Amino acid sequence: MYSIVKSAVLRGVEGILIQVEADISPGMPSFEMVGFLASEVKEAKERVRIALKNSGILLPPRRITINFMPGDLRKSGSWFDLAVAAAILRAMNEIPEGILKRSLIFGEVGLNGEVLPVRGMLPAAVLARDHQIPLMFVPESNLQEASVLDGVVVIPVASVEDFIRICKSQNPEKSACRVRTTQKQAEYREDYSEIRGQRMVKRACEIAAAGMHNLLMIGPPGSGKTMAAKRLPTILPNMTKEEMLSLAQVYSVSGKFQVLQEDDVFQIQRPFQAPHHTITAQGMCGGGRYPVPGAVSLAHKGVLFLDEFPEFPRPVIELLRQPLEDKKIRIARLEGTYEYPCDFLLLAAMNPCRCGYYPDLKKCRCTPSSVRRYLSKISRPILDRIDMTVETKSIPASELFRQKPGESSEQIRRRVQAAHEIQRQRFLKKDYSFNSQIPSKDMECWCEVNAETQAYLEELSGRESFSARGYYKLLRTARTIADLEGSEKIQMCHATEASAFRMAKRKYWEGQDEL
Ligand SMILES: [Zn+2]
Repeated sequence: MYSIVKSAVLRGVEGILIQVEADISPGMPSFEMVGFLASEVKEAKERVRIALKNSGILLPPRRITINFMPGDLRKSGSWFDLAVAAAILRAMNEIPEGILKRSLIFGEVGLNGEVLPVRGMLPAAVLARDHQIPLMFVPESNLQEASVLDGVVVIPVASVEDFIRICKSQNPEKSACRVRTTQKQAEYREDYSEIRGQRMVKRACEIAAAGMHNLLMIGPPGSGKTMAAKRLPTILPNMTKEEMLSLAQVYSVSGKFQVLQEDDVFQIQRPFQAPHHTITAQGMCGGGRYPVPGAVSLAHKGVLFLDEFPEFPRPVIELLRQPLEDKKIRIARLEGTYEYPCDFLLLAAMNPCRCGYYPDLKKCRCTPSSVRRYLSKISRPILDRIDMTVETKSIPASELFRQKPGESSEQIRRRVQAAHEIQRQRFLKKDYSFNSQIPSKDMECWCEVNAETQAYLEELSGRESFSARGYYKLLRTARTIADLEGSEKIQMCHATEASAFRMAKRKYWEGQDEL
């Protein structure tokens, strides 16, 4: 007897369809699995044999051969167990053929016949939809992530016995489940109104959020850098449906889907990842024997906050260059290349020197060379990828209490939301979504300035010897400031405000020719 069932392998967040064949022939009893398999896939043999026995199915004393197709694609992971069991059950004529023909099958099985959860069920569902495969069997605990997508009927199974019963039933689709999720705006305990003073810092955060500009905050300890950073999520608009799906796939392959969805409530706020500076390169950018996404991908469509930026190991900081540029990260493995999206806003905070008080020479105990060494931990190529820098200043407590509470996060978010909407309309037919991502070839089209502003920008870039890259960054920031005001053209005031967010870089990294 011969049978065939469908499953998939994952490369990053992309699924590739595979088929599992089973053949049972007369001959010396044996159980072989072939088809370019990683060792853990070969082990499925023992798990499946015992799981079937404990589910009341004894394998016949014959030659059993399992083949995975296509043969040139290396199969790794443990989620093929249920597909192998299904192929054998079909070849033994224990379950009907019809249901298998229209299904994708996933799940690891335990020796007692239990079907255990696996990673990546959302990308698997995307694959099913794209290949017009109407049904999907998934482990019971993966039901929520598999049902995010419309258009695929999801059948959760708790055990091999459960699977057999559903396949044999008159109408297997009746066992399908869908978790209806509601979306909820997060409630934050923090608010920007709690930050008194620091007008420039708050404004920088608003602009960064509005155009998804990378932002570096530099200033002494206790000047409110972390406080401002932690409040950034409170002014970020909700994700669009497309953004949500893209992010949910990353969390699904990380095995972290439950972070996004608690009970039946889907979190629609953008992610905020703040890894500690002891993070490894792998933790930051992803990797491992069985690759998983790193912090940059978990921050996809949201914010990656790196506090104490120079304290991160240099190789880890340098690794950020490629993801900042490409918005995706590739990890090469024997079986192929894994690709994870990582379109995030980089928010970094740092002291200007080791003691933290430079350039306040009354307080700073560092030598000039030590200050230079400290600042140079942030390399030129990384600085080049940061659109805005802002200085934070300590405010004496006496002065602090004289300041009135600032605008609330809610008020700021409304402006940011409106700017996002303008950009959504503007870039509708483009493969980028925010001002910070406008490629140089499209600059003229989107960043129109009047003659007076043009003259100012030319004078400024001559005086400060801007590189073309630096000039474009200034213009992109000015575009966002204009959008926050709802102005179609970039006006003089937008350009001057944008240039103010390049001054700190000039001050601390003088000698580097780009501002
Ligand atoms: Zn110092």
